[in-house]
Amino acid sequence: MNETLQSTPPVDNPITFSGSPLDRVSDKRKNADWLADQMSSSKSLFLPLHELKVPVELGRQPRLNWRPRTEFGMLIRAGAPCLLLGVQDGMAHFAVDVSAAPPARYEGTKLMDVRSAAMLLPAAEAAIIAQARSMLDWHARHRFCAVCGQRTEMHDAGYSRLCTDEACKAQHFPRTDPVTIMLVEREGRLLLGRQPRFIPGTYSALAGFMEPGENIEECVRREIFEESGIRVGAVRYVASQPWPFPSSLMIGCIGEALSEEITIDGEELEDARWFTRAEIIQMVERAGGNETPRMPPALSLAHQLARAWLRGA
Ligand SMILES: [Zn+2]
Repeated sequence: MNETLQSTPPVDNPITFSGSPLDRVSDKRKNADWLADQMSSSKSLFLPLHELKVPVELGRQPRLNWRPRTEFGMLIRAGAPCLLLGVQDGMAHFAVDVSAAPPARYEGTKLMDVRSAAMLLPAAEAAIIAQARSMLDWHARHRFCAVCGQRTEMHDAGYSRLCTDEACKAQHFPRTDPVTIMLVEREGRLLLGRQPRFIPGTYSALAGFMEPGENIEECVRREIFEESGIRVGAVRYVASQPWPFPSSLMIGCIGEALSEEITIDGEELEDARWFTRAEIIQMVERAGGNETPRMPPALSLAHQLARAWLRGA
């Protein structure tokens, strides 16, 4: 291994937003009595999200500000969505949507969006807020049945919603939308592009939502061809990442290019280029800094894929 590469850290483990320490207890959470006991237990912990923002206790090691049930009893009785995240050390952990009330002020605590909070929190808590944000957002958007238009109600501790119309009773489940994100390689170089919304000088892996009736490899090839005009042959899977904005699963791949000439579509990308291995090493090291060109921060799967590629993935 050469010296420059040694300064490139290995892939983060866990990748941001994965690696939750909570047991999702999918067997127990359907039991209404067990759930009611946990909801009323003084040991249980509640994470209040206000407009999808989370309370972070600032300090040397910032952490989530978990609260007791007593603070939210009235809100929950009035219909504020409250769902089970999981159990750790015998304590049930819940997320509650407190957006109906003005945001509470806790000393030394700041309400933060999930992406900013994830940069400060321990990896385990970043994974928990990804789950909480995705699920509460799904409940907020699915109050009515997609089949008949009637009201739906939360069931199974938050893992489904049931239509209240007796004739319909359709069951709805929280969704996860797969997105492929991929590095494309050719003769030791990588294809990266930039969207107009990126911070100037930032280049990243190309990405796109999977479409129905498409497998991962087909999606990678279609997206790369649409955005860059490059044909891709073999595709290999490297790693994945939950991306709770609102509910994606990023599927990280490396594809082998069959062609070289780049033709950008001009809509999604404003530029795409081949970067040498030496440039990629430099761009990974510059992530989060001011020098350009650079990769996005370590929080992103694109960054982790580049590191994995440098390590031989
Ligand atoms: Zn219905």
